[in-house]
Amino acid sequence: MSKIKELRFYRSGEVVRDIGIIYLNNIVDEMSKKGYKVKGELSSNMFKIKDFKEEDFIRFITIDKLDYGYFPYLRNSPKYGSNAQSVENFHSNFKKLIYIVAGINMKELSEQEKVLEEYQVSENICSICHNNLATDNDITHKTTSKPRVNSKYNYSFMGAENNMFSNYGNGNESVCFECEFLNLMYLLYVNTKQPRFIIYTEDLNLMNFLNYKMALEFKNLNQKSFYKRLSKHMNKRLRTYKISIDTNKGIILNLTNVIEVQNIERIIKYYDIIDRFNFSKEPSKRKEICKSYVISKNISSLENVLINNLIYIDEGEGKGLNKTKTLINVQAYLELLKMNDKGSGSMECKSKGNAFEELGVSLSGKIPEENKKTIMFKINQMMKSDDRTGLFQILVHLISVNELRIPNKFSYIIMKSSSNEIHYQIGRFMEGFLSSKNTEEGKVNDK
Ligand SMILES: [Zn+2]
Repeated sequence: MSKIKELRFYRSGEVVRDIGIIYLNNIVDEMSKKGYKVKGELSSNMFKIKDFKEEDFIRFITIDKLDYGYFPYLRNSPKYGSNAQSVENFHSNFKKLIYIVAGINMKELSEQEKVLEEYQVSENICSICHNNLATDNDITHKTTSKPRVNSKYNYSFMGAENNMFSNYGNGNESVCFECEFLNLMYLLYVNTKQPRFIIYTEDLNLMNFLNYKMALEFKNLNQKSFYKRLSKHMNKRLRTYKISIDTNKGIILNLTNVIEVQNIERIIKYYDIIDRFNFSKEPSKRKEICKSYVISKNISSLENVLINNLIYIDEGEGKGLNKTKTLINVQAYLELLKMNDKGSGSMECKSKGNAFEELGVSLSGKIPEENKKTIMFKINQMMKSDDRTGLFQILVHLISVNELRIPNKFSYIIMKSSSNEIHYQIGRFMEGFLSSKNTEEGKVNDK
């Protein structure tokens, strides 16, 4: 009763369906390794199965993959879950599905109509693959016919970004049996492999490689290392999705990033800066926000967040300035400014023997440790509000009271330079100010 067939599944651009294809490819590989006479062939836009036999496939999935159980994430399904009332019923429904899929695959609509006759062909073409006919009735183990309604068999498609279904098909049950089948393969993939991310590219082979050979290795790596590894293999645009599980809707894909590969290196550098940065409050939340700015290329917002959090205050009794952590922050911030400045290069040449840094060092030697926090706060405040007059006044005051020399081009830099430039110079001043100690403790020289 099972005939040998060749099946073809084309890439649709719909992430759930296409991940289903990738996993189907993997299952066929597993089958042939176990001695089944079946062969898969994956190319960039199509997956071909040679020597497909329905009964072999059904046996392999229900016994080897599901261990005589139901489909994962579909507990309430009357077709593939425990609401089918028995595993036998589920197997009978699954068998019907596989025969339908093999029957309509690559067939003209008129031939599909014959296969789908008992399910009442609807007026709609599938809104996922745009290729197969949808039906008004559903597969069931019961003797009465059952209308096809929105259920978990198609919720996965709704949860994914950029698909036609969620755009205008909400409430419309036009998902064909082939797409439903690939959705089952997708659920099986998520369940057995438990990937942290799903990666979509416009090439099934590359997608297979990224999701299989790589994504699985990344379970224990953080996002930064993930991108680092990706960048070695990529020359294309890719989308990454995070997986979340909803008790009602099943598995939901949330688009996290759309990345041009050339940007990955830059992203890694920004992430390094953010990871090094010490936030006094809600560090993980703030780091996440900063990283989202990097992805959306909103670097000026990233700069703002860093300026606003430059000073690290220790919690508890003293609530004192933590010089080490603040210094790390200032240095990370300076690095960010240098990255943004790339191209003009005006900052690099000033990085050797910087006059503002020297001023910071000399002042630091004359100012009591307990007063440094206030000075840091004032300067940071003025930096945030671009209060150049204030900066000029406080620095001139500190210089003259402590009998130091005014740096070259001091007033020009403070009053006239670009905001990137003044932030950089003040950053260097802070760096010097924080990295050295007061050598004349006891004297009060900042008043
Ligand atoms: Zn379809």
